[in-house]
Amino acid sequence: MTEIKTRKVLDQITPYALGQTLEQIKETYQLDKVIKMSDNESVYGCSPHVEKTLSNELQSLFLYPNGIPEKLIKKLSTLYNVHPDHFIIGNGSEEIIRLLARAYISRDDEAIMADITFPRYETNVLLEGGKTVKVPLKHGVHDLTRMYEAISSMTKMIFICNPNNPTGTVVDQTELLEFIEKIPSHILIVLDEAYYEYVKSDPLQSVTLLNERKNLIILRTFSKIYGLAALRVGYGMMQPSVVEALHKVKDVFNVNQLAQIAATAAITDQTFIDHVTEKNRIEVEFMMDQLIGAGIHCYPSETNFVFAYSNHLLVERLLRRGIMVRKIPLQGYEEAFRVTVGTREENEVFIQAVKQLLNEKVVQ
Ligand SMILES: *Cc1c(COP(=O)(O)O)cnc(C)c1O
Repeated sequence: MTEIKTRKVLDQITPYALGQTLEQIKETYQLDKVIKMSDNESVYGCSPHVEKTLSNELQSLFLYPNGIPEKLIKKLSTLYNVHPDHFIIGNGSEEIIRLLARAYISRDDEAIMADITFPRYETNVLLEGGKTVKVPLKHGVHDLTRMYEAISSMTKMIFICNPNNPTGTVVDQTELLEFIEKIPSHILIVLDEAYYEYVKSDPLQSVTLLNERKNLIILRTFSKIYGLAALRVGYGMMQPSVVEALHKVKDVFNVNQLAQIAATAAITDQTFIDHVTEKNRIEVEFMMDQLIGAGIHCYPSETNFVFAYSNHLLVERLLRRGIMVRKIPLQGYEEAFRVTVGTREENEVFIQAVKQLLNEKVVQ
């Protein structure tokens, strides 16, 4: 049988590294308990308001969801004081990244991004026939000077992941503001703020820039601090003309009804979010102190994860003990990984394991 050929561009695409599931790890290593510190999920779950509203919705599963989640948009509009026509809701903010590429990237258009950042920017740009221009991070932080210098006549989009996944760092507020102000208006600036609520330093109030900067797009999500990763809801804030363009390329019923209901309930409970922010802040500090104390380098994190790097091989050995972290290649070091910060109990188990492994002779 002749092989059916895919589009040529798929040769360049690597599927997202999903890693093994909890069940697979338990089976492979014969473990009873596994601690998942690999996907930046929130250990604090979601607001208690969510469960109640979801159970009320279960009688209506035969109905299609709203094509545009108006109730959720209204809540977001009130929270941010931004007109509802500036919002689009996605099946995760990942979908909005895809819609942006679909609507705006033509063959050979260029998108500038950091070399170590969220991999979905690159995948979606390549799928549309675009090209990626990757600018190395500087000490784990977006290098805005070099990103600006990378602009060419083909540049269509610039991705700034702030805080950056996987390094956890934020760019300096003043530098970011200056950067946004000098980018030519025909280039879209995609500011991915998936971890915005975790930021402890004074972050750039990006939402207030939406009116003057027509090329600015802000992405946020319910998957991280809101603890609703399973349901897939993210949102973008942007000019109504961009929203209209994205509506042309999105699936009709892209956000399922339970997701809409859950996100709408979650957004009203900002007390819960403040509570999680505070708890997380204490734990991130604990993790960084402990890792640095053990001789492992870390970038300063303003998220719910820590990027650690050293010349020790730990990831595989942690896994054998039932602790999952995300390995990430970093030039100049034997091993780097991203560890999602858990509860104090989980963090202590992790730190204890790291310390013990550092004292062991490595027998791979
Ligand atoms: C998790 C994450 C997203 C996507 O989250 P969704 O679950 O698709 O909303 C987007 N950007 C970054 C940087 C992330 O870490």
